[in-house]
Amino acid sequence: MSLKVLKFGGTSVGTVESISLLKGIVEHEAQTDDIIVVVSALGGLTDRLIATADMAKGRDEAYLAEVTAMQKRHHDMIDAIVAPHRQESLKQYIDAQFADLSDLYSTIYNEQRASLETMAAVVSFGELLSSNLTANIIEGAVWKDSREFIKTETRHSRFTICEDLTAQLLHDAFLSVPHITVCPGFISSDCHDGHVTNLGRGGSDFTAAILAAELGAEALEIWTDVDGFMTADPRIIAEAHTIVDMSYSDAMELCNYGAKVIYPPTLYPVCQKKIPIYVKNTFHASHCGTRIVNKIAALPSSRLSFCGLSSMKEISVLSIKGPEMQGVYGLHRRIASCLLEKGVEILFMDSSDDSISLIVRDAACADAVGYLHDEFQNAVRNGRLHPIGARSGLATVTLVGSIADSYDILRERISAVLARAEVNPILYHLGSEHNSITLVVEKPQVQTALNVLHREFL
Ligand code: ADP
Ligand code: ASP
Ligand code: MG
Repeated sequence: MSLKVLKFGGTSVGTVESISLLKGIVEHEAQTDDIIVVVSALGGLTDRLIATADMAKGRDEAYLAEVTAMQKRHHDMIDAIVAPHRQESLKQYIDAQFADLSDLYSTIYNEQRASLETMAAVVSFGELLSSNLTANIIEGAVWKDSREFIKTETRHSRFTICEDLTAQLLHDAFLSVPHITVCPGFISSDCHDGHVTNLGRGGSDFTAAILAAELGAEALEIWTDVDGFMTADPRIIAEAHTIVDMSYSDAMELCNYGAKVIYPPTLYPVCQKKIPIYVKNTFHASHCGTRIVNKIAALPSSRLSFCGLSSMKEISVLSIKGPEMQGVYGLHRRIASCLLEKGVEILFMDSSDDSISLIVRDAACADAVGYLHDEFQNAVRNGRLHPIGARSGLATVTLVGSIADSYDILRERISAVLARAEVNPILYHLGSEHNSITLVVEKPQVQTALNVLHREFL
């Protein structure tokens, strides 16, 4: 038997109906393969755990009712789908977890603050609870704790994976692979002191990819609530359609530029091992979905062909320019390291001879301007650079496909199409792999830009 890793997102473990579908899918696939199931928290629960912490921090006693409601949601789920003889012990486990969670919230309430570590502990309950629930509805499933083998360290206030240690611990934990294993997605632990950490929002996809890559799975299946990876977010573009086959590099580009369907770091480990990814719909399992592999059948090289569109909102553009910009020592390196050290994520950077544009999230904009101002105050004072400029409330639109040498032609074509719709991009950017073109527009124009580009190119 070969091994498959199946990841089910919050949308697939949110309700009695969806978790019953999950059970059916796993049991069907287990007829032919060994299966590792990776689950997210019940749909919406991570947001609610965070919102409840915010209430406690703000001394809003309504947080107590939130905890009770979350606990009841798990109890109701157990009543509806877990076999009667397993209900009592599972409810005891769930209640013990909620007692620990309540202690955490009351500390947050008393201290009116929550550290990075405390918040990581708070959000970890979502996947702990959902994975135990899932393990109890699948006959013969063995629950394994991802915190024991997925290890991280904290750098610049972010948890980053310790690849070698994780690989070693994972092999030890799976020396003999059970026929069906259930693991919590998202959660991990610190490589030094073992406190609970996580792989970032949406990180259950990454948990599944790490397991698939290290254990040499035959496939990674991402089960979600849409018919595969589509030409655009179907919630935004009604005509979006399934991309039946796509390459890792196109998928990476669409995800890096905002396609939420797969968490971006997920693609690297499986791509390195050339393990195919299938994106499937839990609610429409008979649909073929999407297969992501190394290379897809080549098109004639002269033809422009497009794979999909993605977009990010709440984006800011910072601009660094000045009469003697080239004379500022180590400019690019200093920009990148000053922001990285402070934990500001640069989504992408675009530079020309006389200016550098940095694209960051709106939420990070004011801090980023402050850090850059401090870093370059001498250059600004002596007139080499203008003060750092910033423009917020923008959005990006990215078109991915085989663009290669046709960038200039394509850019003209895009400009013409957008001009007819009265959309005027603020900047254009060619992706580093030359398979994407990104434009930045005013946020109110993003829907029109997506509509017209989808119609024109996809
Ligand atoms: P899950 O809970 O399964 O992890 P997510 O909400 O993280 O689900 O991802 C699935 C969602 O991603 C879809 O419901 C869809 O709205 C959104 N999405 C964004 N871009 C795309 C795309 N190109 N193809 C499919 N879905 C997309
Ligand atoms: N539950 C986590 C989140 O909502 C991780 C995940 O769903 O992948 O971000
Ligand atoms: Mg997701």
